[in-house]
Amino acid sequence: MDPLVRKLCAGQRLEVGEFERLIRGREQVRELLASRAREVRTQVYGDRVWIRGLIEFTNWCKNDCLYCGLRCSNHKVERYRLSEDEVLSRCRMGYGTGFRTFVLQGGEDPLYDPERIAGLVRAIKKGFPDCAVTLSVGEYPREVYELWYQAGADRYLLRHETADPEHYSQLHPASMCLADRMRCLEDLKDIGYQVGCGFMVGSPWQTEEHLAKDLSFLQAFRPHMVGIGPFIPQKDTPFRDRTGGTVELTTFLLSVIRVMLPDVLLPATTALATIDPDGREQGIRAGANVCMPNLSPADVREKYAIYDDKACAGDEAAEQLLHLEEKIRLAGCTMSMGRGDHIKMDGR
Ligand code: SAM
Ligand code: SF4
Repeated sequence: MDPLVRKLCAGQRLEVGEFERLIRGREQVRELLASRAREVRTQVYGDRVWIRGLIEFTNWCKNDCLYCGLRCSNHKVERYRLSEDEVLSRCRMGYGTGFRTFVLQGGEDPLYDPERIAGLVRAIKKGFPDCAVTLSVGEYPREVYELWYQAGADRYLLRHETADPEHYSQLHPASMCLADRMRCLEDLKDIGYQVGCGFMVGSPWQTEEHLAKDLSFLQAFRPHMVGIGPFIPQKDTPFRDRTGGTVELTTFLLSVIRVMLPDVLLPATTALATIDPDGREQGIRAGANVCMPNLSPADVREKYAIYDDKACAGDEAAEQLLHLEEKIRLAGCTMSMGRGDHIKMDGR
C-alpha cells in the first residue's frame, strides 16, 4: 500500500508536505482511498445518509466576498428576506415530510440582527422540540454565538474557505481576515456547538499546497462537520471568468477527509450536484453521509444565487425526497430522516 495512504488509514498525523504529495499523486490512490472511506463510514455510522432541510432565509449580505453572488457589490441580484412566519411555515412543511434538522442559512443581513435570529431559533425549538437547528450566518462576536446557543441552536456551519492567510485575502475584501474566521470557529467549538468548517475546491489561485494546508487545519481542528464543494463562477462577481472546481478533485478530498476524520458529518453538497447530475452519488460513494435538500419557498430559490445555475430542483428540492432516496440507494446507502447528530455529541 502507498505509504501515505497507510499512514492516513492508521490514523497517523500527516505533515503539510505529505498531504500535498498525496493530492498530487491522487490518481494512483483514488480507488483505494474511496473504498477505505466507505468502510470507515460504515463502521461509524452504518450505511445511513442524513437529510437536512436547508432554509435560505435571507440573501441580503453586508460582506463582499469576491466569489459569491450575494456580495453587497452585486446590484443585479434581487434581494429577499423571509419573515419569521415564512420560515416557520417551511419548518412545518419540512417536519411533515420527516425532516428533523433545519439549517438556517443566509448572508450577514443587518436587518436580521442577533436578537431577531435568536427569536427565530427559539420559535423553531418551541414548535419542533425534537429537531436540531443549524445556523450558517457568518462571523459574529462570541456573545452573539452564546446568545444563539442559549436560544437552542445546536450546530453552526462556517467554512474557513482557505487555511492560507494570503489566499484568504485574495478571495475576500481587505475588511475580512482569516484570523477573525478562525477566532469564530474556536469560539463556536468552545461554546458547545457541533461545528462545521470547510472550503471551496478550485477557488481562484488555489494550489495543491493550499489544499494541503486545509487538510492539515482539519486534522488539527477536528470539526464535527466539513462542507466542501467545487468553486463555481458567478456571472456578476469579479471571478466570473475563472475556471470552476472539479468533481474529480472534490470527491478525492471527500475520501481523504472521511478517512482522516472517521466520525465527521460530511455533506455531498449542492455545488457538487450542480456541476454534475451524478455529483451527489459520486460524493456519497467517496464517503459523504449528509444531503441538504432545499426547503426554501420555491419562489426565492433562484434568488439565492451564490453561483451560476445552482441546482434547486429535482433531488435538490425537499419536495422530491423519493428521487433523492433512490439516488442515495443507488450510491449504496440508506436515507435517514433522524436528527443525525455527530456520534460524540448526541444532542444536548
Ligand atoms: N454567509 C454565510 C457564510 O459566508 O458563511 C453563509 C452563506 S454562504 C453563501 C455559504 C457558502 O457558500 C460559503 O461559505 C462559500 O464557501 C459558498 N460559496 C459562495 N460562493 C460560492 C461560489 N461561487 N462557488 C461555490 N461555493 C460558493
Ligand atoms: Fe455574504 Fe456569505 Fe456570500 Fe460572503 S459568502 S458574500 S458572507 S453570503
